[in-house]
Amino acid sequence: MVTDNILKHRDVYQQVIDEGHAVGNHSHNHIKGWKHSDNDYFANVDKANNIIKSKLFRPPYGQITPRQIKFLAKKYELIMWSVLSGDYDKNTSPKKCLNNIIKNAKSGSIIVLHDNLKAEKNMLFALEESLKHFSELGYRFDKLSVLYE
Ligand SMILES: [Zn+2]
Repeated sequence: MVTDNILKHRDVYQQVIDEGHAVGNHSHNHIKGWKHSDNDYFANVDKANNIIKSKLFRPPYGQITPRQIKFLAKKYELIMWSVLSGDYDKNTSPKKCLNNIIKNAKSGSIIVLHDNLKAEKNMLFALEESLKHFSELGYRFDKLSVLYE
């Protein structure tokens, strides 16, 4: 989660926590590691962690330098992704997003979906239908064990 959004929508954040979902750090305001000094980037991530308090960090856009990875990996479990749903692409359809997920996801996959207005229509359909699809195949959606060390 991006803490700038948490501060704007505290009720949504609280609902996520209350429902028992795992939450990870996605920076304070979604900045790119490639475009910021190491110190600014680390401060932004730590600022987010003051609220989120998670061991998980996913760099926005996956744009992070090797030096930033080395430093942040001492403190956080860096999470990338294995399946892009494409929900953010305005030229794609909800069905195509779902097919991207179904075709490419397997046990342990990390699927990227977005909680913004641009992706909403694709994301809501693809999330619900892919959960249904994989549940019917016997998959479970558990929290990452790294949260409970
Ligand atoms: Zn992001």
